[in-house]
Amino acid sequence: MQKDSFLKFKNIIKNSENIVITSHWSPDGDAMGSSLALYNYLLLLNKNVKVIVPNPYPEFLNWLPGHKQVIIHQQNPKKAEKTINQADLIFTLDFNSLKRIEKMGELLEKVKAPIILIDHHQQPEKYAKYYFHDVNACSTCELIFEFISGLGGKKLIDKKIAACLYTGLMTDTGSFRYPSVTTKTHMVISELLKTGIIPAEIHSAIYDTYSYERLKLLGYLLSEKLEVVEKLPVAFFTINENELKKFNYQKGDTEGIVNYPFSIKGIKVCALFMESEGIIKISFRSKGKIDVNKFAREHFNGGGHINAAGGKSTFNLEETAKKFVSLVSSLF
Ligand code: 5GP
Ligand code: MN
Repeated sequence: MQKDSFLKFKNIIKNSENIVITSHWSPDGDAMGSSLALYNYLLLLNKNVKVIVPNPYPEFLNWLPGHKQVIIHQQNPKKAEKTINQADLIFTLDFNSLKRIEKMGELLEKVKAPIILIDHHQQPEKYAKYYFHDVNACSTCELIFEFISGLGGKKLIDKKIAACLYTGLMTDTGSFRYPSVTTKTHMVISELLKTGIIPAEIHSAIYDTYSYERLKLLGYLLSEKLEVVEKLPVAFFTINENELKKFNYQKGDTEGIVNYPFSIKGIKVCALFMESEGIIKISFRSKGKIDVNKFAREHFNGGGHINAAGGKSTFNLEETAKKFVSLVSSLF
């Protein structure tokens, strides 16, 4: 845990006019939820604030309050660069290595504005000036709640901010069932509900949005593509680009699929390998003390949390899966 004092944060925010909030490549519910919660909060403080993310976020997040104002670097690089260079304060949320924002990382390496990192992933890099980092937080949204509260802004948390925070807390905890869930998580949720947000509506907005093809893709992967590694409690999927095309793949369609094999009794490690934009994007999940963050860092150019990590590979799909199968016994 590394947390600078709220006094410092208060002062620096007070003295900053133009504030940029960024989050990681392939933004998920926690990335967008935490960024837009902080965005809506800073708007209430009359700041000129912008959220910039490297590439598009899934459609099931395009109802979050403030999402229309988000700048996507991949679609609007000039505007993103100009906004970053004009900022006098930058927040980086839900990631801790500049590699996680691809080309935007080069922009952030050069900025003079101080950077505040707020994150819950393992092993933060040293690129920021200030840190609000805790690997025990279930989500960056949980940390944003703590951050806003620490600044004395709890009473400003309205329905908009609460909806954003609820989204990240829910999606990063698999709807409040991962071991990262604590009494604190539920206390935060209880505070958020007081604003009048309706959990069932948010759950539905995120999860009841499958297209017919997305559900068929899930069915296909479960029936045709699920492999269990011989003699090990390990299961994985591979998905190639043709398969994605066949099911009219849209961003976010494979989200959550990596977890399905856990419902097989005894499975302790799951993986998903997917062809995406010329590389293989990898997701790892594990149970208990099995550390897939370390595994992803050492072998697949990635990282994340002990029980949920990601990475990439420039080998082809079959070679990547083979490499995984040959290395995975080292986790046990
Ligand atoms: P997912 O499998 O859902 O894409 O990612 C699982 C976790 O690992 C997330 O917390 C995500 O931020 C992290 N992660 C995913 N891909 C990468 C990667 O390429 N590098 C690093 N360092 N972390 C990743
Ligand atoms: Mn997160």
